[in-house]
Amino acid sequence: MASTRTRLTVAYGIVLCGTMLAFGVSLWYARKESADQQLGIHASAVAERILGIIRQAQWAGKRLAYVQDNGELGKEIKPTQQLAELLDPFSGFYVVIDSTGKLLYSSQAVRLLEPDDQERVLQVADSLGPNFFAKVALSDTSFQSRVLLTARRDPAAGPYISRVVAGLPTDAADLAPQLLIGTMLALSPIVVLLSLVVAYLIAGRAFRPVEELINDVEAITDGRSLHRRLPAEHSNEELTRLTATLNAMLARLEHSFGALRRFTADASHELKTPLTVLRADVERSMHPSTRPDERMVALEEALQETARMADLVDSLLTLARADEGRFDLFREPVELEPLVREVLETATILGEEAGLSIEVPPLENAMVLGDRTRLRQLFLNLITNSIKYTPRGGQVELSLMRRGHDEIAFAVRDTGIGISANDLPHIFERFWRADRVRSRSSERGGFGLGLSISQWIVQAHGGSLTVASRLGRGSLFTVTLPVAPVATNPSGSAGTHPQLESAVKGDSNSDFTNS
Ligand code: ADP
Repeated sequence: MASTRTRLTVAYGIVLCGTMLAFGVSLWYARKESADQQLGIHASAVAERILGIIRQAQWAGKRLAYVQDNGELGKEIKPTQQLAELLDPFSGFYVVIDSTGKLLYSSQAVRLLEPDDQERVLQVADSLGPNFFAKVALSDTSFQSRVLLTARRDPAAGPYISRVVAGLPTDAADLAPQLLIGTMLALSPIVVLLSLVVAYLIAGRAFRPVEELINDVEAITDGRSLHRRLPAEHSNEELTRLTATLNAMLARLEHSFGALRRFTADASHELKTPLTVLRADVERSMHPSTRPDERMVALEEALQETARMADLVDSLLTLARADEGRFDLFREPVELEPLVREVLETATILGEEAGLSIEVPPLENAMVLGDRTRLRQLFLNLITNSIKYTPRGGQVELSLMRRGHDEIAFAVRDTGIGISANDLPHIFERFWRADRVRSRSSERGGFGLGLSISQWIVQAHGGSLTVASRLGRGSLFTVTLPVAPVATNPSGSAGTHPQLESAVKGDSNSDFTNS
């Protein structure tokens, strides 16, 4: 495949040749026209000169032609000897035509032509009007290959003479345009070649920064050099923009690659620990010296680890599908107050086990258009986190409050260990945990995926998840969701909005994607 530089040069060469051709043709045509004009003027001068001689002879009373009566054959105009004597001394290519359109006299140059050529000249001379000119091709090249004829007329030339047609060979005039074409043909290869070389060099100069950019990009795209950036400054505005765009893309790629690497490493690490425990448990229970009660303990632990791994794989699958945007959310109108009360029952049991008091101020209610199971999962994630990270004797408070007409906020506040300001920006990252060791060893240690999934659920419902926390003082997680629009039906009572109905009926499993 030819490079852009070569293609540009070739395109330039084609355009140049075309331009030169068009220029050459128009120049040749203009030159030829002007040469013909000049020739016509000179031929007219010859005819005028002969007419002048005839006129003077008429004034001097010379008899140049007479009418011969041929009886039944009619009358005919005949030249006199005086006409021949008058004009023979004047060289040139001309004929004198009588008033009936017949040839009265032809100059010696015309008489020397082949009879065919004479015939052709006379035919054209006969039909040629005054001040027009025409070209006649001759077969006898001993004279000239072509003559340009022009006619002049003068009433003072007498009653028998109508006009004088004079001619000049065109070869001299044809020579100028031919010379021009010859010169152009001789020069054009040099001009085209020189122009192509210059165009190629200029294109090369213009494309050098692009080539440098390609080399730089090639050096970076090997996967390990994503931290490198392209030089931002270029003399060319387009290239500066291109490098800025590429640098932004590289930054995003670097971030994504890093996240992917971390994600794979974390996922493998999280799976490795339960697998090791599982293996040890199975080995222990298979050992012949293991007592039956010890075997039961080992198998129970193995079961727990299997459940833990299943949880992890389930979470990973949820996030992977959410990333791909192909996770189906079954949308339906969901009343939030009953849902929160349902979740509260689980929270109360968990809270009692953990020695915490669960506070619930009066709950407000609103309908949202969402996936009941996912919303339940979201609320439970936040509540179990608060219970997990609040020491015995602490307090967890759940609230559900309307925020204006369009939003409703579900909040979980605890008096737990809190999150440091440094950690706060990371808590929604996958596998991130403030204290990995403690999370793992504690009874309900998580994988650090719960908040990532919670954030995805909130975003898929068009809401937002915010957190406020102080280390050692507690945390507040707030989910804000848009309230489903409700319209009044014609009977005056509140009814479901048509948009809501259509969403529930026909569009119930359309995707919410985590943007
Ligand atoms: P995990 O399963 O480990 O709880 P999450 O994604 O739910 O994973 O939470 C990520 C991390 O955020 C937790 O490991 C914990 O360090 C911190 N965190 C979450 N909720 C709270 C909370 N209510 N109080 C203190 N820290 C919390």
